[in-house]
Amino acid sequence: MVIVMKADATSHDIEQVEQFINTHSARAHISQGEERTIIGVIGYKHQVRREHLLTLSGVEKVIPISKPYKLVSREFKKDNTVIYLNGVAFGNGTPVVIAGPCSVESEEQILETAHIVKENGGHLLRGGAFKPRSSPYSFQGLGEEGLQHLQKAREETGLYIITEVLEAQFVPLVAEYADVLQIGARNMQNYELLKAVGRVNRPVLLKRGMSAQMTEFLMSAEYIMSEGNDRIILCERGIRTFVEYSRNTLDLNVVPAIKNISHLPIIVDPSHGTGRRDLIEPLSLASLAVGADGLMIEVHPHPEQAWSDADQTLDPASFKRLMNRIRHFTEWQEIYQKEISAGQI
Ligand code: PEP
Ligand code: MN
Repeated sequence: MVIVMKADATSHDIEQVEQFINTHSARAHISQGEERTIIGVIGYKHQVRREHLLTLSGVEKVIPISKPYKLVSREFKKDNTVIYLNGVAFGNGTPVVIAGPCSVESEEQILETAHIVKENGGHLLRGGAFKPRSSPYSFQGLGEEGLQHLQKAREETGLYIITEVLEAQFVPLVAEYADVLQIGARNMQNYELLKAVGRVNRPVLLKRGMSAQMTEFLMSAEYIMSEGNDRIILCERGIRTFVEYSRNTLDLNVVPAIKNISHLPIIVDPSHGTGRRDLIEPLSLASLAVGADGLMIEVHPHPEQAWSDADQTLDPASFKRLMNRIRHFTEWQEIYQKEISAGQI
């Protein structure tokens, strides 16, 4: 249920509604809009009766939400959530590019990559310090040392950093270094981890599990948001299918499908989505064409020497070309939007 308060509702009215919800074994999620306050009722809400809420002072209407996810739905919040970060915005129509190696391998490697990302117009630097690997014998990441290298790269280039956190107990440590916390595909349904990142003051990039349905994906975002963190960026990274020519199948359907029902920004990772360097550029452009708010691309100064995911990593020249194509695409899209606004299309 979502409670829409009247435009002239006082803070006392809001407190009263919150108290009413709390005393009925549920929790209130307050969202202060520009014009009015919206209150989401979460938890064991069967005891909170709509007809009772309607009698409280300052309540304009009470809308039952039909979906299992509430806070992330457009029924709860109709305008897009825009996440502002270091001069870029996820969700305002201009694509944001996150780029960097699969894993942080050394200080030199991450610094060199950071400069490549920066010089070519990338917006955020990625790099895994804690790596979820299919094999226990594969490189597991440099751990905190990797985080320190990322921090150095941030100091040198000014690029904000995004890195994965694997376990709830490491959330405070990773949050000390990272500007955005990444939840990887394998952890999309690690509910304790989702709750932990829901309680920190950092935006979260939530990757879709490789066999997760759209509703499950949104329910995982709901876990984060119900803990109080509403800065969530969704990321489609490909799902498992029967195809054998690519690592995963990028499910681009999900981008506009999610945009219809959720206010959260969603980006696409064509590196993991395809597992193939030659498919990254076309699928990046396709992602933007279906409305993705950004891209996550694996880039390495020498991909053939990368310690992980070499086959899906771009070299500097290919990254440069991709960024140019993204720029052209964005310019074309701006012209198109202007023509739509002017009624010419
Ligand atoms: C990654 O981004 O390096 C990663 C491990 O991705 P995913 O969780 O999507 O497999
Ligand atoms: Mn990777």
